[in-house]
Amino acid sequence: MSHDPNCIFCKIVAGQIPSKKAYEDPELLVFHDINPWAPVHVLIIPKQHIATHYEVQAEHEALLGRMLGLAPRLMRDLGVVNGFRTLINTGPDGRQEVPHLHMHVMGGPRPWLKG
Ligand code: 5GP
Ligand code: ZN
Repeated sequence: MSHDPNCIFCKIVAGQIPSKKAYEDPELLVFHDINPWAPVHVLIIPKQHIATHYEVQAEHEALLGRMLGLAPRLMRDLGVVNGFRTLINTGPDGRQEVPHLHMHVMGGPRPWLKG
């Protein structure tokens, strides 16, 4: 599995940076965003280092499907009952700040800070 020693999210996967985990399996990790926009704001990431959605190849399609499929289960488990948003920022023009593929999943009662 590929890792980038300088990547913040690879360090979270390795346990070198602490995070508040919401879910983990051999392929995926979910943790709460350090700067939440919404009452519930988690990031779903693959454990392997894929820099952006732009780099995704055909071999990653099942992984992407699992990320999307996990979102409603997480929201239910975290008590979200009235809808949620999923968001993947890609590259500089997509305003991606952390170059390790991640899907934001945000829910909970409005108003939200943004989004
Ligand atoms: P992006 O703009 O790349 O789509 O979103 C990156 C997200 O990662 C931001 O919402 C930011 O708050 C979150 N983030 C950045 N560094 C850390 C960290 O060390 N821990 C956690 N839990 N979230 C982080
Ligand atoms: Zn990484």
